[in-house]
Amino acid sequence: MTAKIIDGKEIAQQIRGELATEIQHLKTRGIVPGLGVILVGEDPASRSYVTAKEKACHEIGIYSNDNRLPATTTQAELLALIAAMNANPKINGILVQLPLPKHLNESEVLLAIDPDKDVDGFHPLNVGRMVVGEKAFLPCTPHGVLQMMARSGVKIEGAHAVIVGRSNIVGKPLANLLMAKGKMANATVTVCHTKTKDIGHYTRQADIVIAAAGRPNTVTADMIKDGAVVIDVGVNRVEDASKKAGFRLVGDVDFDACKQKASLITPVPGGVGPMTITMLLYNTVESAKRANGL
Ligand code: NAP
Repeated sequence: MTAKIIDGKEIAQQIRGELATEIQHLKTRGIVPGLGVILVGEDPASRSYVTAKEKACHEIGIYSNDNRLPATTTQAELLALIAAMNANPKINGILVQLPLPKHLNESEVLLAIDPDKDVDGFHPLNVGRMVVGEKAFLPCTPHGVLQMMARSGVKIEGAHAVIVGRSNIVGKPLANLLMAKGKMANATVTVCHTKTKDIGHYTRQADIVIAAAGRPNTVTADMIKDGAVVIDVGVNRVEDASKKAGFRLVGDVDFDACKQKASLITPVPGGVGPMTITMLLYNTVESAKRANGL
């Protein structure tokens, strides 16, 4: 079997088109969704993520309030900016690009964001709401994974999903969402991590394998069953002298070999990545609607 490729760029574009239409309707009612973006320091990867987010906002009509702060910014200065954004009615979502420079207290910063503007879905209140099945901003990467599976016709209900990785931003929330009662859910979920003995024992039983480990070749072809759906969240830089940058991006899955066995598979790049930013835009529009009682 040769897998069909799930094109994350195409699905993301489809959702962004739907959001752009919704934003046009909101604008006729005087509502302009706004996203406040904070980047502290000069980390090149963070800078390019933030630039991509700002560009995506402009493309679909979200007001983007961009704040690029020096690496010397103090905790007090950062908290003051967040407080100002919390109070600013033009800003419906607040995004603090992580990781922050080491002298800043990340958890205090995330706690300072108004949970009603927490479009990343990282505030413990939103995490708690998600776990108990209340309305919450869903974290963008896990939500993007669910959307891309749902829009590719993957049957999640009743499936055995095996996730490799248990981080707070990908593995854990994804496990919660997949096992929830409801639409795009009702799966039986197994979560593997670095202390799991023989990960292949679990992934070979999986209808859906989701790799979110941050290590190339974590999932190889001998670890999946014929016809499995394979979702690759990982983004890893590997040296490549043939590239101008000196590296190329690969996922956590041995894509070429798994493609011969899976029924559906996501590539890296062009898979989960574009979905993550798209779900951030989605949450910002949702927040603007909620703030206006819609
Ligand atoms: P993380 O915080 O480093 O967590 C990695 C998780 O994978 C941990 O739970 C770790 O287990 C587990 N793990 C690592 N190596 C493993 C191995 N060899 N076997 C089994 N489990 C292993 O990373 P993250 O933030 O979740 O991100 C994971 C990957 O997704 C990264 O490559 C990241 O760049 C990528 N990512 C992509 C997007 C996107 O938009 N495409 C968004 C977010 C993240 P322990 O808990 O035991 O340490």
